[in-house]
Amino acid sequence: MASQATDLSQIPLPITRPSFNHEEIQAVQQVFDSGWVTQGPMTAAFEKAFAERHQVSHTLATTSCTAALHMSVLALGIGPGDEVIVPSFTWVTSAHCAEYAGAKAVFCDIDPATFNMNPDAVAAAVTPRTKAIVAVHLFGLAADLYALKHIAQRHGLAIIEDAACAVGSTYFGKPVGSFGDLGCFSFHPRKVITTGEGGMVTSENKDLADRVAALRNHGSNRLKSPLAPKPHQMGAFEFLGFNLRLSDIQAAVGLAQMKKLDGLLEHRWACALGYNQLLKDVEWLRLPAEPEGYRHTYQSYVVWVKPDATLPRNHIMEHLAAHGIQTRPGTMAVHLTPYYRDKYAIAADAFPWSKAAEESTITLPIFPGMQERDLERVAGALRGVEQSARTLRKAG
Ligand SMILES: *Cc1c(COP(=O)(O)O)cnc(C)c1O
Repeated sequence: MASQATDLSQIPLPITRPSFNHEEIQAVQQVFDSGWVTQGPMTAAFEKAFAERHQVSHTLATTSCTAALHMSVLALGIGPGDEVIVPSFTWVTSAHCAEYAGAKAVFCDIDPATFNMNPDAVAAAVTPRTKAIVAVHLFGLAADLYALKHIAQRHGLAIIEDAACAVGSTYFGKPVGSFGDLGCFSFHPRKVITTGEGGMVTSENKDLADRVAALRNHGSNRLKSPLAPKPHQMGAFEFLGFNLRLSDIQAAVGLAQMKKLDGLLEHRWACALGYNQLLKDVEWLRLPAEPEGYRHTYQSYVVWVKPDATLPRNHIMEHLAAHGIQTRPGTMAVHLTPYYRDKYAIAADAFPWSKAAEESTITLPIFPGMQERDLERVAGALRGVEQSARTLRKAG
């Protein structure tokens, strides 16, 4: 028998963790009992719930947001000789999707206040070869969609929303995923809701949605066939598709998670407000912005360590780790990863805000079930950094 009370200050705090209960298990049990375990009624129900919640006409469940982005680029007919503009501070696959199709990922810098692509930088990156913009809603805050749509309209470009972090995020009252030609969501465990691995394509455009449906299913045009399927009929395959279908087992988890979405978002939002209060007078930190008209998901709560901080960012992260607090950098300066840096000979100072963001940001813990005392523990450890810096100086 444990005789000592648990020392709460020793329990590790993760940057995030998924949240499941009997509801996911019951939904999966239903799939097993039905005997229909892929692209069946549960996938259809998950797609329908997602469409309703995001006020979008077409939804297609797939294996990841990466697959969603890849199919979106192909559905738009983008290929060799074409360019796609992407922010230089994001997850790698926001850029990879263009390269998978043989097109070129062209980077642009971000606005450090929002971490999202700077529309002026997007406009400056447009060339006669540009076909699309990947509008990333980083950490769950929508990109400046009106400005980006304006640029897209002026130059005849498509918009693909990378809404991997933005399930349930809104822009002037409307959920993201319906502003662009296509929207792409992720259900990886680090995101707002999870199916283990999984993703969703959204669109208002039926032709694009039909193309994604075929790409997801080996390139089969079965959907369009006017013939009733006969035992001897195989599907027709007009182009090279993939198997990027989500199973009904995962869709069951997704449907159960969708029912919890509003609660999960409310809690993340409350945690973010809590951090904002607790950290507002820490002068060497810049807290995440939520501009008027935007609703953040806080898939990640990312702070910026200002250059005049008492300790460098990496020391601060190590200090937090020593207190059992897991952190990560916000995300990557993708243009400096060797694949892109070497392929396009990109200079180290090409997109200075993205580089600074990779080097200066910290993702703080924010997870379902996180409590006020956990927030206080993180804030307390951050304040302790100043004490630790004084000790270091004395020792040095
Ligand atoms: C997580 C993430 C992705 C990739 O999502 P997967 O479902 O893991 O493929 C793409 N873009 C952004 C911005 C992300 O955060």
